[in-house]
Amino acid sequence: MKKKYVLITGSSRGIGRACALAFAGHGYHVFLNSRNSLPQLRETEELIAELGGTCTLLPGDVGDPDCVRSMFAEIEPFCGGLDVLVNNAGIASFGLLTDMTDGQWRRLIDTNLSSAFYCCRAAIPHMVSQKRGRIINISSMWGTAGASCEAAYSASKAGLHGLTKALAKELAPSNIQVNAVACGVIDTEMNARLNAEERTALEEEIPAGRYGTPEEAAQLVLSLAEGPGYLTGQIIGLDGGMI
Ligand code: NDP
Repeated sequence: MKKKYVLITGSSRGIGRACALAFAGHGYHVFLNSRNSLPQLRETEELIAELGGTCTLLPGDVGDPDCVRSMFAEIEPFCGGLDVLVNNAGIASFGLLTDMTDGQWRRLIDTNLSSAFYCCRAAIPHMVSQKRGRIINISSMWGTAGASCEAAYSASKAGLHGLTKALAKELAPSNIQVNAVACGVIDTEMNARLNAEERTALEEEIPAGRYGTPEEAAQLVLSLAEGPGYLTGQIIGLDGGMI
């Protein structure tokens, strides 16, 4: 069977790393990426090697269009292009919108939303030419519901939902499926700022009574990459019943 290639942005830890391991375990060659955390990226590489999988490190800021161009300039000679793109890189921001600076707003939108545009723009031509491809955007329940003191984050993820639905229609004739996973609270570094008391209070708000795991998110992402080709344009909640 022909080897498949996936780029997972932000795969040095958390949901991205769990996705990288799930895809590698399924026989994919995984392109790993993160902006800063090279030692953690190398750890992901080692974990993939332990599984008998293969990967290539592509460190860089996916919120920077030139950097994304350079990443694809490495991907294309290696394998022609991607079968699957997982737009996972993201950052959070907490506080009143009125306290946010122009720079903070731009950094968040560049990282969480423009990055998906840059990566999709680069990945789609190859997918169209092979008449097959999957794009999975990692979003948040706050993109659907909105969260107080997370206006920029909620806006960036709502933008991803629009991108997902529009691209799904644009690319369906080329047999490319585009879906998003709207995560609830997943147990990663992104939520490490919460103290034990805050964590318990949050868990009590979740109908499932617990945080989700990165592995559960990865299981869903892999199933979207491998599942039915008629499933497209969907924002799938993975939130323990929150929304
Ligand atoms: P983590 O903070 O654990 O991981 C984020 C990853 O993104 C890291 O690998 C980080 O690497 C990378 N990253 C951040 N900015 C960039 C950038 N500009 N270019 C390349 N890589 C970057 O977060 P999670 O695993 O929790 O989050 C993954 C995704 O899931 C995000 O999009 C997040 O919004 C979404 N999500 C998470 C939820 C949660 O509760 N954890 C809930 C809802 C959605 P580095 O530090 O080196 O930049």
